[in-house]
Amino acid sequence: MLETKQFKTESKRLLDLMINSIYTNKEIFLRELISNASDAIDKYHYLSLNDEKLEKRDDYKINIEVDKTKRTISIEDNGIGMTKEELDNNLGTIASSGSLEFLNKLKEENNKENQDSINIIGQFGVGFYSAFMVAKEVIVETRSPYSDTGYRFTSKGEDTYSIEEINKENVGTKITLYLRDNEDEENYDEFLETYRIKGLVKKYSDYVRYPIQMLVTKQVQDKDDSSKTHEETSLETLNSMIPLWKKNKSEVTDEELNRFYKEKFHEYDDPLVSLFNHVEGMISYDSMLFIPKKAPLDLYSEDYERGLQLYSKGVFIMDKCKELIPDYLRFVKGLVDSSDLSLNISREMLQQSRQLKKISVSIEKKVLNELNSLKDNDFDKYSTFFDEFGVNLKYGIYSSYGAKKDELQDLLLYHTIKEDKYQTLREYVAKMQEGQKDIYFASVASKEFALNMPQMEMLKKKNYDVLILTNPIDELTIQMMGTYDTHKFVSIQGDLDLEDEQEKKDTEQKQEENKDLLQAIKDSLKDEVDEVKLSSRLAESPVCLVAGGDISFEMERTMNAMTKGTVPYKAKRILEINPNHELFKALEKVYSENKDDLEEYSSILLDQALLLENMPLKDPLSFSKKITDLMIKASK
Ligand code: ADP
Repeated sequence: MLETKQFKTESKRLLDLMINSIYTNKEIFLRELISNASDAIDKYHYLSLNDEKLEKRDDYKINIEVDKTKRTISIEDNGIGMTKEELDNNLGTIASSGSLEFLNKLKEENNKENQDSINIIGQFGVGFYSAFMVAKEVIVETRSPYSDTGYRFTSKGEDTYSIEEINKENVGTKITLYLRDNEDEENYDEFLETYRIKGLVKKYSDYVRYPIQMLVTKQVQDKDDSSKTHEETSLETLNSMIPLWKKNKSEVTDEELNRFYKEKFHEYDDPLVSLFNHVEGMISYDSMLFIPKKAPLDLYSEDYERGLQLYSKGVFIMDKCKELIPDYLRFVKGLVDSSDLSLNISREMLQQSRQLKKISVSIEKKVLNELNSLKDNDFDKYSTFFDEFGVNLKYGIYSSYGAKKDELQDLLLYHTIKEDKYQTLREYVAKMQEGQKDIYFASVASKEFALNMPQMEMLKKKNYDVLILTNPIDELTIQMMGTYDTHKFVSIQGDLDLEDEQEKKDTEQKQEENKDLLQAIKDSLKDEVDEVKLSSRLAESPVCLVAGGDISFEMERTMNAMTKGTVPYKAKRILEINPNHELFKALEKVYSENKDDLEEYSSILLDQALLLENMPLKDPLSFSKKITDLMIKASK
């Protein structure tokens, strides 16, 4: 008896979506059907453990069959099958509310942007209905161990489907797809090709636990005459079944891990670090994580897609799942397999993303723990890592507005003027001099440059070490950190407070005595500087330019580059003059005997200070002319 029925409304909508989708990933239909088959076998196995009626089996398998003349592809399993009622409920209706939610979400997104929304189909399975992306007719022949007879479900994906009784000997399900006719843009014949099916199984279903088999015909050399070949057909298992990450940790050698990494991620080099974990708890997952030796060239480009591969019970779901790893760990490669995530959308999408978030938090911890122990146990290797990826850790602090400070600050390494190798902040603090409260830093192009800066002179005398910051993000990061333990970060290019009480008094007094001269210099430099004062930090150099207030020169440069000058950042400029230098006496002399020349002197003084700071001169031509004039004058 043939019964014809209407699909339930929601199912109908999903069906429409599948049939009319411009969706490019039509190929996932095979993954979906294989996953259903594998689930059905799981169910059979599970039930057979307790139910005497079910025969115990050990021949579970999934069979793929292709008929090129009929243009059919079928997937057969010896799983639990379906009763008539189940057929009706499972395939005629979207049983779960999760699917409904998926549809609603899709509709919502559709209103926004057509193309992208469809792509989430690929990430979260839509199960059986995806068959209609490639098939014009689908036939399901099935028999449940709880039913005396088999049933055939037939649908052309229009409004209706029909169910009839059939003779079916074996328990299980066979789904046959009649491929759609080829169109101008779409060629469905590709799904009849052995290489294509093999490729799809490898890509999506390689780690399904049961053998996925197919008859494969090959050209084989004749035994007697090797110049001749003949066809041989044999049953091949297309999947490797056991994912490396499901093995016991102790069974997997480093060698195997390295090989896996290179194959999976198309790398030439072994990874610098590999991390293999089975996590049980609030959420369970297996993960394999790798830190490459070298950063890919596009790591910092906007187009770079971070993310880990996501599997659910050995079934590949998506390639770059960015929800699994925070942005600042974008260099980590790897995969996560969680049985707590459903491949199908029968669970709520929202819940999925909450679970992904939990996994991400746990993975972040794992990676940071590993980095910490690498730093403690193999500092050289850690330094290599830091050279390549350290900037990401700084970015982690900066981009979280300091929220990640506690986790990341001890992973940072710095070059300093006193040490030859990288220093942690902890090491810096441990080696601080008596009386030193702050952590000093210089934002400069190189250590050599830093060593010759006039601002460094007094610090060198006091034997204070100074962090060398060469990357624009360094200062932003330090600003976000504010302090390390109780120690402030202080720029040596800013307003420094290095004097003791007595020294301070002396400077103030000198400052007062030379008030008029300093004011005259300031007046002649107009807006070029905000303040001119006597310096206590200079030993040998006559002059230096420092930044007062919160914005340093480096920040001024960085922020202006970042905002493209729309919000001009300007550091407060202070010209500091060394009162103990010969040149200061010259200035005093010029001021008292030859006031007219002071303007020229002041201007040269400032330009010198700018040059020492590696900052551009306002008017290099005039600077050069003034020097020339001075030299001529001096020779007369
Ligand atoms: P989902 O797998 O998300 O529930 P599907 O549309 O893929 O959604 O399938 C609906 C239901 O149909 C499944 O939950 C299962 O009960 C049943 N089903 C699908 N394929 C098979 C199969 N090969 N064997 C037994 N039951 C199946």
